[in-house]
Amino acid sequence: MDFSLEYTEEQESFAEEVREWIKENIPDGLVNFRDPLKKTREQWELRREIGRRLGQKGWLYAGYPPEYGGGGLDADHRFVIQREFEKIGVGYLPFYDSARLAVGPILALGTDEQKQRFLPPIFCGEVTTWQLFTEPEAGTDEANQQTDALRHEKEGEYFIVNGSKIFVGGIYAPPNQFLLLTRSDREAPRHENLAMFLAPADLPGVTINPLPLFVSGTLAQVNGPTADSSPAIKHQVFFDDVRVHESFLIGGDRDGWRVTTATLDVEHGGGQAAIPLENTAVKRFIEQCRSNPTIQKRLRENAQLLESVVDIFVRSEIVRLWGLRNAWIADSGQRAPYVGPQLGLYTKIIGGELVESLARVLGPYTLIESTEWSLAEDIFEVVQRAGLCFAPAGTPEAQKIIISRALAIGREPRR
Ligand SMILES: Cc1cc2nc3c(=O)[nH]c(=O)nc-3n(C[C@H](O)[C@H](O)[C@H](O)COP(=O)(O)OP(=O)(O)OC[C@H]3O[C@@H](n4cnc5c(N)ncnc54)[C@H](O)[C@@H]3O)c2cc1C
Repeated sequence: MDFSLEYTEEQESFAEEVREWIKENIPDGLVNFRDPLKKTREQWELRREIGRRLGQKGWLYAGYPPEYGGGGLDADHRFVIQREFEKIGVGYLPFYDSARLAVGPILALGTDEQKQRFLPPIFCGEVTTWQLFTEPEAGTDEANQQTDALRHEKEGEYFIVNGSKIFVGGIYAPPNQFLLLTRSDREAPRHENLAMFLAPADLPGVTINPLPLFVSGTLAQVNGPTADSSPAIKHQVFFDDVRVHESFLIGGDRDGWRVTTATLDVEHGGGQAAIPLENTAVKRFIEQCRSNPTIQKRLRENAQLLESVVDIFVRSEIVRLWGLRNAWIADSGQRAPYVGPQLGLYTKIIGGELVESLARVLGPYTLIESTEWSLAEDIFEVVQRAGLCFAPAGTPEAQKIIISRALAIGREPRR
């Protein structure tokens, strides 16, 4: 894996192929809003169209097996695809969809029939998926699920699901399917009582309620313009006696915790997660510090301010390099269970520090719309909102707990 910013000769020739593809396939009218609240349904549909076209080429899930519609490409090539998309303002491949979290467990624990049924529609960008893990009593304590999926007494191939999930979703409702974590056994010990489903979202007894005040902007918006173009609000989903067939169960009745930890590793930045590129907000901030004479003067006169800007720059580089390292670790088949949460944790730390540094350097100018002073396109507003939002994909405390277990200095790691 090459960690440099420049392409190797081979990467450059692949980049040429990607650029050609982009020229021929990106639909007209694509607008890159940094603020998810400004995104429209029309823009979201355009992104989905790009996703479907990428899926046909095998580049939407570029690293996964070609037999199911993936691209079979290594991290060096996935990096090029992401970078070329980033250049046209469309980043964060594969386009945000929670199915990407389920792919590893389906490949590892799914039956051959499930792999054939689940993976091609995901890899081709045909289906949309929400992650349904969080409940009022199961946020950081993810194992404390109260949504029951109990086998039907007479029709044993069906589970009956009752309960609710909160803070979920992110693209237009309803999605096609849910990645649904449930409690399959009320008596079994913790961590051995869970079941994970990739279940259709339109089953009788499912109700989806929007939470319009809960914006879903995350650090993805800070690290690069996202491609999901979601309406950016979260939802609550209720299950009332919903019948789910066992063919939608990933792994066994009690494998839910194993599937959850595998999905969370990808969500935190391990496995085949999207590779973070340059942090565009930091890049613009540095450019502004360089080009605005008043800011330059302030930095020259205040060593602490200057240090805070340099700190942000250095840390954003660490995130980029750790992302590349994680992709390389996943590709080379090594197991390093702490590297996902390590990247996730650090990304969140930077988010908070970036907000602080921007506020200290730009002061009241963060409040005005001026390309000379603020970072353009409401970027400060977006950075502030996203950078201080630590909860998605686990809080920093949760990630530290996972790292401590991986280092065998916390509680016993679970299977
Ligand atoms: C923008 C956004 C998008 C989200 N998207 C999704 C989604 O798509 N799907 C989904 O399932 N969920 C989603 N979530 C939910 C998210 O995963 C949870 O908010 C998160 O896991 C934290 O859970 P909680 O909100 O219940 O906080 P709590 O678990 O109540 O935690 C509150 C505070 O206590 C701390 N804390 C709790 N337990 C411990 C402990 N043992 N040790 C130390 N500190 C602790 C936490 O770190 C946190 O600071 C989203 C959340 C947000 C904000």
